[in-house]
Amino acid sequence: MPAHDRRPRIAYCAFPLDRASALRRDAAALAEAARADSTRVVPVWRNRNLITADDAPAMVALTGETARRALAAGRERIFLGADSRGAWFAADVSDIAEADLAPLLDGTPAGAAFRELRSAGALLAGDEAAVLACARGLAHWHTASRFCGTCGAPTESRDGGHARRCIRPDCGRDHFPRTDPAVIMLLTRPAPRRKPGDARCLLARQHHWPEGMYSALAGFVEPGEGLEAAVAREAMEETGLRLAAVSYRASQPWPFPASLMLGFRAEAAGDEIRRDEKELADARWFTRAELKALPEGDLRLSRPDSIARFLIEEWLAEKD
Ligand SMILES: [Zn+2]
Repeated sequence: MPAHDRRPRIAYCAFPLDRASALRRDAAALAEAARADSTRVVPVWRNRNLITADDAPAMVALTGETARRALAAGRERIFLGADSRGAWFAADVSDIAEADLAPLLDGTPAGAAFRELRSAGALLAGDEAAVLACARGLAHWHTASRFCGTCGAPTESRDGGHARRCIRPDCGRDHFPRTDPAVIMLLTRPAPRRKPGDARCLLARQHHWPEGMYSALAGFVEPGEGLEAAVAREAMEETGLRLAAVSYRASQPWPFPASLMLGFRAEAAGDEIRRDEKELADARWFTRAELKALPEGDLRLSRPDSIARFLIEEWLAEKD
């Protein structure tokens, strides 16, 4: 089956492994799994994943001696989960100098190299992209959490790489991997009763985006804020629009470095846009007919595997 046929509509959602969280605290079982020939190891080097080079890129999972080498050289051994053939680990091998990476590439396909997942992700099979995203996210969290935020002492990895604990006995605080929620919302206006075909959605562009690129509004959830409130606040701040209704649609893990995108449809109570000129270079209403008629190049939407695109395509497929 060609790789693209296995891609879900939203990237990074199709994590294929049993996370087997009960095993995380079984240090003896994890040590045994780490030695097994059937074990697969996904190395992460300086936030990059090991990926083949051809035009249908694929994840490279190490096995056997190469896998054990990666685990031994790894800053962290992170238990990702298991499938019917055995355990999967991530190993953060960032301490290896670039010139010394060759032994880790023993037996891997020609052209395999450490690449940025964000660029290759759209071409990977969905299950592989999800495994690589999980490995990248956890490796990044370990690197950013080496010291206790409460007392400043070093922390050490626990629970198969799914927690860290401060080593100072009178502190001992546990730290857990973080996921920062962000909301992304497609603002819509229904067609007036006498003007069928005039339903619209709002797309905007940021100043630094490539020419012609438009997408849905998005922003981070603030401490003490509910998701619906975050959607309403972002809509008001960026476009001056009040909302009449908000509904949750779908989510996308976004490990660049640690977000979860929560996607919403939001019906605006009016249509007069007061754009935040610092945040947005443009914000416009589009009818379905306008979006469908725009030639490729005049209007560039987010990547086909993004949640923004999912929200737009879902709305486009509906009738006014
Ligand atoms: Zn501490």
